Amino acid sequence: MALYRREESIPLPPSNAEAYNTACQYCTVGCGYKVYVWPDGLAGGLKASDNAFGVDFSSPQPPLVGFSYTESMHSTIRKRDGRTYHVAIVPAHDSPINPMGNHSSRGAVNAKTTWSDSRPTQARLHYPLLRNGNEFNAIPWDAAIELQARVIKGVADKHGADALCSKIYDHGGGGGGMENTYGTGRLLFTGLQMKHVGIHNRPGYSSETWGTRDRGVHELNYCYEDARLADTIMLWGSNAYDTATVFFVAHMMPNLQGATKDEKKKHYTSGEPAAPARMVIVDPRISATVNAARETGAKVLHLRPNLGTDYMLMNAVARAVWEKKYYNKDFLNQHTDMTTFEDYKKKSLELDMPYKDFMARAQKITGVPAAQIEEAATWIAQPKPGGHWRRSLILYEKGVIWNYRQYDAVAAIAQLGALSFNIGRPGTGTGRVGGHQEGYARPDYPGPKPPPDVDKYVQDGKGKIFWLTGCNPYLAAQNNAYFRKRIGERAQTLTDYLSAQKQGDGEPASMEHLAARILEGLDKTNGLFITVQNIYMIESARDAHLILPAAQWGEAENISLNCGDRLMRLDDRFMDPPGDAKPDWEIHGLVGQKLEALYQADGKADIAKRFAGMDWKHGADVVKSIQDDLYAGMDTKVPASRASTLDPESFKGVDYAYLRKVGQKGIQTPVRTDPNTGALVGTKRLYSTFYFMTKDGKFSWYGTRPWDDHASATVVAGYLKSDRTKYPFWFTMGRSQPLWQTSYHMRHVPEKTETTLLPFVQINPADVKKLGVTNGDIVMIHNDQGNETFAVYETDAVPPGMVFALMYHWLGTSNSLTSPYTDPMSTNPWYKGTRVGIRKLSGGLASVIATTSFRPTNTFV
Ligand code: SF4
Repeated sequence: MALYRREESIPLPPSNAEAYNTACQYCTVGCGYKVYVWPDGLAGGLKASDNAFGVDFSSPQPPLVGFSYTESMHSTIRKRDGRTYHVAIVPAHDSPINPMGNHSSRGAVNAKTTWSDSRPTQARLHYPLLRNGNEFNAIPWDAAIELQARVIKGVADKHGADALCSKIYDHGGGGGGMENTYGTGRLLFTGLQMKHVGIHNRPGYSSETWGTRDRGVHELNYCYEDARLADTIMLWGSNAYDTATVFFVAHMMPNLQGATKDEKKKHYTSGEPAAPARMVIVDPRISATVNAARETGAKVLHLRPNLGTDYMLMNAVARAVWEKKYYNKDFLNQHTDMTTFEDYKKKSLELDMPYKDFMARAQKITGVPAAQIEEAATWIAQPKPGGHWRRSLILYEKGVIWNYRQYDAVAAIAQLGALSFNIGRPGTGTGRVGGHQEGYARPDYPGPKPPPDVDKYVQDGKGKIFWLTGCNPYLAAQNNAYFRKRIGERAQTLTDYLSAQKQGDGEPASMEHLAARILEGLDKTNGLFITVQNIYMIESARDAHLILPAAQWGEAENISLNCGDRLMRLDDRFMDPPGDAKPDWEIHGLVGQKLEALYQADGKADIAKRFAGMDWKHGADVVKSIQDDLYAGMDTKVPASRASTLDPESFKGVDYAYLRKVGQKGIQTPVRTDPNTGALVGTKRLYSTFYFMTKDGKFSWYGTRPWDDHASATVVAGYLKSDRTKYPFWFTMGRSQPLWQTSYHMRHVPEKTETTLLPFVQINPADVKKLGVTNGDIVMIHNDQGNETFAVYETDAVPPGMVFALMYHWLGTSNSLTSPYTDPMSTNPWYKGTRVGIRKLSGGLASVIATTSFRPTNTFV
């Protein structure tokens, strides 16, 4: 039964409704969408000629393949002309990503996330806000920008760039866009030369995939066609059905069902067998993906490693590939670096250890039977009848990227792909699935590799400014309870100082005066000046001093890049932002312009010029800056065989006009200029000539670090060493299908909040019994790092002794339990594993139990 208000009917857009193109604002897949906007009071008719969809609704649409327009795809908005408009956001049918109009339950609510004065999204930030004791007061943009620039300049001049800290999102699409990644980079890196910058979901300016990039393989090297052509699809640490839904449903599933046989024949060599794909899933949980794959009738192999042991398991599969001689000797000799290969054989494959002993050890550490490890090797690498090389698409995501020693895990899977010859050929590829859409267009980061841990730096009392753009570290930072505590304390110290000054000396006379007081407070105390730039009043804003309201998807043009295809498209602007909210690039541009003026006035022209050229008026101006700044010296006039020598996400020559022309078809990066015709050409898949991103073009091997039993490693927080009776459960976390990221939007969409009233924890039936709890009971999960409450969700998706919690929810974050451990090679956290205790709280929440479904998600029965 639906718990939220249903509509009796939804209006159709009239045939003259404004029509726009966009990509979904959510996940990595980047499904194509169409947006229709029309004034209140008008409506289209049922006949195809009478509505903007051009679809005949006088009889029902056929199931599954028909045109989808549900009540969640319609909303009303108010523009700055004061009038109400309807907006319909429906899956595009001319998109190569979701050609059948496929969408997920996240994309289906795109319309409901638009700002409206009559729905909960009215909570959007409208104006810059300045803290005044315990309150926030609206201030004009000029004042906000002046304050931000003066405080930054004062701190930088006195304490240097190291005292400036920031966290920024890196969504080149989805909730953000290339314009915004450039805007932040231009100000923070080129202008302010900051190295204390972290990305929205991690504490440093690190790549999550250095382990593969250092091998010469960019993580986005395959295309969706490969999922339709593969003999075997391996999903490692990716619950793709839940989190990259349309990729799984529209591209992997047809292959598992044998529906892509004809497509395979077009690309395969003569006589090559073309059977339905098999799937290997590596995940400790029986996820919805495992179930969905099995439901197709395909052969599915499910490996369930112990938490944190994945790179051992990858190396074990690779060892089996080696022992069974499933590798392509010519490829290895000609296209990989045989010098570093020796190191790989010694340290990763451990060839000095007899195979039997190696596999017995791997089985013991990973918990995966040796027979399954060998079977996985066979499924991904054994040549097909007739000696044809098998085509396997090896995909990984957060289960690998957020794992123990994540650099080695990513390196190990890239190497498994190279050893098994699964890269560069149609139907192959070894890369990440992606979380959000990607694509950086940023000036180079000026800090070291690996970068400093900004969260720790600020917690330790260092730094004076913390500028949080488009992220919510009060939910997303690791070791979160301590993080919140320390940031809150330091912010309050400054707040108290300013309040005392005001009581003694009265209100500051100007923004310059206020900035001077803040700078004085930062000098005299260990305070921290916090600026939050966001679309909502998020948790991290509660301690902020200055809040800057940002525009979102649909309120400004964005160039987006999806992960699976590296498909670049333009997300049109179809509505006004609320109040005075501005795109992130404009806010950073304004601060840059003010800093330029302040340094000019100071007679420091050399510093001032670092901020020159940020006077962007429109997204197209930012794209021009990207072209001039990042691509001017880049020679992209190369033949297709050298496309992989280009920056994989670069798009020299592409502007809004070009993207408007290609519409949903988009263009796949890297974009090159055809040397013969001069036309812009996209790149379907990388490394098709096996020329990799290294100096000599050869794949570079790496010997992974020796296994040291992570449960007793000294670098992991002390509680992991403590008596297991104190913290008897392994704890992991991740996303669920209905919600997106920190639920920054979803919590304002009743259709979504009703699906997940509370953060939940999945517990195996055997543990439920031991704990004496039942579905819907509230439990306190705790360890030495912190605690959170979760609603119990009994399911055999998790094995006994391990629990899985929803990653982020507005009523709690799994990160209150995660440790401060980061991989020293990458500064990336191990979010996916810690140990916890579980305590039942007496009493229950009757309304939650009465209205929540506890049906398992890992079965369709
Ligand atoms: S699969 Fe991803 S991109 Fe596609 S509709 Fe769903 S959330 Fe949007």
